[in-house]
Amino acid sequence: MGGVSVRLTIFASGSKGNCALLETDGTRLLVDAGLSATRIQEHLAAVDRAPSDLHGILLTHEHDDHTSALRVFAARHELPVFTNQETRCATLEASRRGARDALDLDWRIFRTGEPFAVGDFDVDPFSIPHDACDPVGFLFRAASRSVAFVTDLGQVTALVADKARQAEALVLEANHEHRLLMEDPNRSWAVKQRISGSHGHLSNEKAARALERIVSDRLSHVFLAHLSEDCNRPDLAEETMRRGLEELGASRVKVTVAHQREPCATLELASCRAVAAETLPLFGLTRAAA
Ligand SMILES: [Zn+2]
Ligand SMILES: [Zn+2]
Repeated sequence: MGGVSVRLTIFASGSKGNCALLETDGTRLLVDAGLSATRIQEHLAAVDRAPSDLHGILLTHEHDDHTSALRVFAARHELPVFTNQETRCATLEASRRGARDALDLDWRIFRTGEPFAVGDFDVDPFSIPHDACDPVGFLFRAASRSVAFVTDLGQVTALVADKARQAEALVLEANHEHRLLMEDPNRSWAVKQRISGSHGHLSNEKAARALERIVSDRLSHVFLAHLSEDCNRPDLAEETMRRGLEELGASRVKVTVAHQREPCATLELASCRAVAAETLPLFGLTRAAA
């Protein structure tokens, strides 16, 4: 294990683009790349990182707000893209519609449900219910620390709760306030059904209700993610989550709302002991660790 701490910086979160930086001292990964190449570069520069410092991009699913930077950013900087086969196919299919040339990237294919290693990180990709081909959440482990990404999803299944419970820092979707979604004059009934359905997006209420199955002594931070700009409000999402945590006697857990336009402050999970890695299929990394 190279790093003694794990750092998480959410660059942006929401339906207009998602991207987060997860790093140890030796391995730097982006989780999703749904911003413009310029924006990602600016966010990296703000934390003293350059695209050449990255070891890869991991994709949760093929929707544009998670993949739009692939063509320019991943290709230009020759970054490996870790995803499952279904998501790769769907991403290629979507890109073919908008461009003449194929999306020629360094794809590294994992299987949903089968853990693998990327540098210092053990990565556990697990299935989540969402209207995409093979969407996943991720549970990352490095240097005895753990971070989970659970977005976008319509419901918290037993599998999702089981994985999320293992994280000390959890990025959890709180997409909409149910009442605001239902009252929204700009969305059709069908769209509202899709968003609030079991393969849509998690509401504030559903996210808070899931806490009962997620909260453990290990959990220290919750980042509320993918907030709708017109069917949610940061204060509502935060309040619902805090109340849920209080009811479970877990008000010690820090809650941070991730935004579309502003990055979150970097969370550092420091570790004083290195833990031996389990034997997992290892993806070769071509970049030397800085
Ligand atoms: Zn999304
Ligand atoms: Zn999506």
